[in-house]
Amino acid sequence: MSYRAPIADIQFLFREVFPLDRLFALAPFADFDQAVTDAVLEQGGRFASEVLAPINQTGDREGARLTEAGVVMPASFKDAYHRFVADGWNGVSADRAYGGQGLPEVVGAALSEMWQSANLSFALCPLLTQGAIDTLALCASPDQKGRYLGKLVTGEWTGTMNLTEPQAGSDLGLTETLATPVGDHYEVRGQKIFITYGEHDLTANIIHLALARTPQAPAGTRGLTLFVIPRYREGSPSSRTANEVRALSIEHKMGIHASPTCVMGYGGMAGAYAEQLGGLHQGMEQMFIMMNRARLSVGQQGVGIAEQAFQAARDFARNRIQGRDLKTGADRVLIIKHPDVRRMLLTMAAQTEAARTLTLWTFFLSDLAHHAESEIERSVSGARVAFLTPVVKGFATEMAQEVTSLGIQVHGGMGYIEETGVAQLYRDARILTIYEGTTGIQAMDLLGRKLVRDQGQAWRALEADIRRSLQSPELGAVRHLVEPLRKRVDDLHGVVEHLLQEYPNDPYHCGGSAYSLLMLFGTVLGGWMLAQSAAAAARVQSESGSQPFLERKIRIAEFYMALLLPRADAYAKAAAAPSPSIMTMDDSQL
Ligand SMILES: Cc1cc2nc3c(=O)[nH]c(=O)nc-3n(C[C@H](O)[C@H](O)[C@H](O)COP(=O)(O)OP(=O)(O)OC[C@H]3O[C@@H](n4cnc5c(N)ncnc54)[C@H](O)[C@@H]3O)c2cc1C
Repeated sequence: MSYRAPIADIQFLFREVFPLDRLFALAPFADFDQAVTDAVLEQGGRFASEVLAPINQTGDREGARLTEAGVVMPASFKDAYHRFVADGWNGVSADRAYGGQGLPEVVGAALSEMWQSANLSFALCPLLTQGAIDTLALCASPDQKGRYLGKLVTGEWTGTMNLTEPQAGSDLGLTETLATPVGDHYEVRGQKIFITYGEHDLTANIIHLALARTPQAPAGTRGLTLFVIPRYREGSPSSRTANEVRALSIEHKMGIHASPTCVMGYGGMAGAYAEQLGGLHQGMEQMFIMMNRARLSVGQQGVGIAEQAFQAARDFARNRIQGRDLKTGADRVLIIKHPDVRRMLLTMAAQTEAARTLTLWTFFLSDLAHHAESEIERSVSGARVAFLTPVVKGFATEMAQEVTSLGIQVHGGMGYIEETGVAQLYRDARILTIYEGTTGIQAMDLLGRKLVRDQGQAWRALEADIRRSLQSPELGAVRHLVEPLRKRVDDLHGVVEHLLQEYPNDPYHCGGSAYSLLMLFGTVLGGWMLAQSAAAAARVQSESGSQPFLERKIRIAEFYMALLLPRADAYAKAAAAPSPSIMTMDDSQL
């Protein structure tokens, strides 16, 4: 299946919707500008189309295998990974102090979208390494940073995230893996399941970040500490000592076959050598650094795979001949002429663009949260990123389910046949609403942590910005898009105020509302993103004349407001008054 990176769409966002010039004016990014970013995106797009996309289907068929020598990756993945590292893609937005190139996070995120579109199984590996880099950069001692960060940044080593255990999935407070102090380090014993890239043969070492419980630690998440557990204790392959951590088995899964999902065993004769990372019993807080970043990146996986599904469906619809033209009666027309096929294609395109804009904007805010000059801007941006993270993760990954499913529908029966590759996209996308916290967990995070905990403060600041933007002269140019949006912002306001009041009295009611609330936020914020994009397109057209690319932005936003934004009404109703059946029915009646 071919893939063409949506470079023009990304450049449009970076120039016209949330201009990266804001970032290039900050000291850490002073060496970069739009031209450098364009060149990076072009090269990244070529890498995605020419190196990663061609091995996506073969990787799916071949899969990762567990052999006596350990986990073996498809040979094509090894070659691609070595090129990925040699070309310097792993560290594009990592800190220069550790050998990264220091580009803004949002540029790295745009590249990551391309890797995810082209090959989700492959791209999961650098996604997790990035999470490990972020966590080590914030929590590790100078000595640990010196030993681990450089090789993770180049990609010579990869990183993993070891949380899940058989009895501890969404509820990590049930973690049992035990870390016993021995001199200056710990010995870890236990088992983790579902560990992505827990073992592979792409690199000489793998650095596991794992949550474990020390003896006599408090129960629940408060007793968890974070540990670094290297696969090999010394870096150099010639002198390395294998640590007591290995893949015991790998899962046979519905999708992402070339991404090894491992059951990891810690400790054999001795425990696995482990170093404490950050504070004792602060593991959960620190792991959240990794998880929050990973949650945004998983949202972006949703965007990436949706883009690929859209491209495949559009290309198919431009070639498949079937049926008559409804109006002219012309026989043997391309299916792209049928209104219902166009509805599906536009649903795919509009959802993908809405989620892309929201996701990249959140990464842009994350750059400001880390690097803005004023303390106040850093803190406001940080609060907004925290607020948006469950929305991005939940909405973009749920959207990917619909879009990859429509991708099959546009293909008709051929979509159900593996050969076309769109069935793989559907299978691969299915994990996205599950790992890094299910949609249900994102919804409860949004309601319980992001709204109730600060009594709606972060949301009200965002709401004020949305209302200001809807009144701005720029959006005045697309008034027909603003009006339907304003009504839904009012509805959203009402639902949030209602739930803030209800939460202490009726948590069941709120738990039943949480999913609808998350989807309401995603749908309204997605609409706001597309309205801004359409307004920017109208502005550029008024300055430099009509262009099909810009006209398309406006048409897509119009379609969204007409056919997709109205979903917000159903979500608002369901969030405000979920059915009493949810909690009044007896378990046996379900
Ligand atoms: C392919 C794959 C790769 C993975 N990679 C990793 C990895 O690299 N590292 C890692 O640590 N883990 C990984 N995981 C594990 C993944 O993060 C968990 O599967 C996920 O968090 C859900 O946990 P669970 O499977 O135990 O489901 P459960 O927690 O048992 O959830 C089952 C259902 O109950 C719901 N539920 C549970 N608790 C609540 C609640 N409090 N409120 C409302 N609803 C609730 C859930 O939403 C879900 O619908 C991976 C899993 C898979 C399948």
